[in-house]
Amino acid sequence: MTVSLGKRFFIYTGVVLIAVLFLAFAALERNQSRQWETFLQSQNISFARFATPEILKQFRGAFPPSDETQLSYVYDFLGFNRDLILFSIFSPSGKVLFQSAQFPDFIDTVLSESLLSVSGLRLKTPRVSVQTEHLLNKQRVLDLLVPAFGPTGEHILSVRYLVSFDLIDRRLTDMRVQFLKIGVFALLGATLLAAFVARRISRPLAELAVGARAIGQGELATRSAIERNDEIGALARAFNEMAESLCLSRAALTEKNSALYLANEELKQVQSQLIRSERLAAIGQLAAGVSHEIDNPVGIILGYAELLKEDLQGDPQKGADLQAIIDECHRCRRITGGLLSFSRIQSDSREDVDLSVLITDTIASLQPQKLFRNVTFKFDRSASKLPCTVAGDSGRLRQVLVNLFLNAAQAMQGEGSIVLSLAVQSDLLSLTVSDSGPGVEDQFREQIFEPFFSTKASGEGTGLGLSLCRRLVEDHGGELSLEPKAAAGACFKLTLPLAKEKTL
Ligand code: ADP
Repeated sequence: MTVSLGKRFFIYTGVVLIAVLFLAFAALERNQSRQWETFLQSQNISFARFATPEILKQFRGAFPPSDETQLSYVYDFLGFNRDLILFSIFSPSGKVLFQSAQFPDFIDTVLSESLLSVSGLRLKTPRVSVQTEHLLNKQRVLDLLVPAFGPTGEHILSVRYLVSFDLIDRRLTDMRVQFLKIGVFALLGATLLAAFVARRISRPLAELAVGARAIGQGELATRSAIERNDEIGALARAFNEMAESLCLSRAALTEKNSALYLANEELKQVQSQLIRSERLAAIGQLAAGVSHEIDNPVGIILGYAELLKEDLQGDPQKGADLQAIIDECHRCRRITGGLLSFSRIQSDSREDVDLSVLITDTIASLQPQKLFRNVTFKFDRSASKLPCTVAGDSGRLRQVLVNLFLNAAQAMQGEGSIVLSLAVQSDLLSLTVSDSGPGVEDQFREQIFEPFFSTKASGEGTGLGLSLCRRLVEDHGGELSLEPKAAAGACFKLTLPLAKEKTL
């Protein structure tokens, strides 16, 4: 079972307070009762010393005195002592010479037989002898024995006074009641104070515990509102400082994390680019060798086929077969030509090329072709006012444009529109080429830039166009990518760095 700090403080303080009050009360009571007892004793000794000669004078050796008035005088005289129960006169041998009646205030006090006699030892004592006796009802009695001496100094008799402790005991009882009342009030006040202090300590600590738990669960914005100039206030301030520094550490970590994420993404891109470049370089080398070897025999076959075709002009059937051979040879050369481009891609010729002009020229050269007759080019001329000069090889860049336009026209099967738009951002020029064709299927989005990937019917595509274009563009320090899926058709984005002097 867990007991809160406040409750513990309350219980401990309460127990300590009760113990302290009890001890203080016991010590005071003991001290006070001793004082009163001593006072009663000394007062009655003085009284006895003063009264004894007077009694003896009244008795004049007759016990009881012969004159009644003398006895009543003695009673009146001794009656001033309100605590006196009775007095008696003993001979030195212990014989009771006289025993008074019990004084009016103590008529009901029951005295035992032993109290009415006195030991011989005490009677022989030449000094005042004092004893405290207990009655059956626990009342206390002060027993005073005063010796009386004759003119020659001999011990002639002893007077005994029995004095009641009732007055003192009543006062002690009153005092105890008073102490008890004060004790109860003090205890009540102290427990209230202890409860208040316990609350002042435990409440902010409980608040801080809740805050610490919230921080542990990730709520780092949690702060303590406690404002005090004591240890708890210092704890609250330390708590807030800790939360603040945790916030800062988390922000720094998040920042580092996102920087790491970006670096990782960049690394992944560079890595895939590197892999692609290496793969392309390997393909390029292999393809160049193979193409070179195939190109010559295909050229020879083509030459012979064309010669034969001339010879067989009168035979249309054979002429058609030869034409098929010639077409296939041309296709072979297209492929080998494309492959050779991979190996010859590096170009040192760098000149200022106005991309806007190049686009316009390329469109103009393509439009007469059958495939482009029903294709509308939409090119915003106002874009030509932008700085559109890039440093590059105009022949290679035209090749890229032709490839993109051809692909678009083929995808639209010769009918539709191609929209071109130029934009400048910082030191980069970007051209987007969108068409109204069917677009690229999701599953092929990554593959279309791979060499030899083609969805076109056999004989129509080599699958080298886009991979070659991308290599050419990257060789110019730019990028070629397929934009995220558009509403309709495909959208390719070509980015090239602007020529230095034209940079915005
Ligand atoms: P090829 O044109 O010889 O097939 P490419 O590398 O130029 O080779 O193109 C690869 C593939 O990318 C094409 O087969 C086609 O599936 C897809 N593609 C390229 N351009 C477009 C386009 N504008 N619309 C739809 N698909 C396209």
